[in-house]
Amino acid sequence: MPSSKILAVPLNYQGIYPCPVCRVGKIRDMPLMEAMGCDFCHEIFTVNLEQEQLKMLSRQPPLIWRWNGFNWTETQLEGVELGWGYALGASAFVLFPTIIIGIVAYNFPLDPHAPITWLPSIWTCLTFLVHFSIIVWLLIEIYQVPISAYWRGIIRWREVRTTVTSARNFQGNGVIGNGE
Ligand SMILES: [Zn+2]
Repeated sequence: MPSSKILAVPLNYQGIYPCPVCRVGKIRDMPLMEAMGCDFCHEIFTVNLEQEQLKMLSRQPPLIWRWNGFNWTETQLEGVELGWGYALGASAFVLFPTIIIGIVAYNFPLDPHAPITWLPSIWTCLTFLVHFSIIVWLLIEIYQVPISAYWRGIIRWREVRTTVTSARNFQGNGVIGNGE
């Protein structure tokens, strides 16, 4: 028997698993409910133990992950296959206009004494950034990346750090004060 089989964790209601949405929190079963919840992004999932699948219900169509014993894989929208065609389309959407504008900017350079010689290169960069951010935004929409949860987490983490630092400073001042 390969050792990986022995170390693999089966999916059940007693276990604690990484959250596939925020990848920060842990998901565990919710009392009195046949569901699991994340302690960080508060997302709620239903579990299919037979198929070792987790389903996120807060969106339509729901997102589904499969547990392979170690982590969540095969992210998919229920009934939707995001295959290579989409990846190719997305790459073309980003690269094609950028390349065309880049070629034009390269082949038809402006008069070097013109005041805006930097414009074509900036324009090429902007084309890339805008098209790229449209794809990123689409992915965020499709996979419902919990940006607000990340943001809350970062704020919470910073608050904790500030409290700890100021407490430490306060203590430090106290010691100096006593010595004087
Ligand atoms: Zn989460």
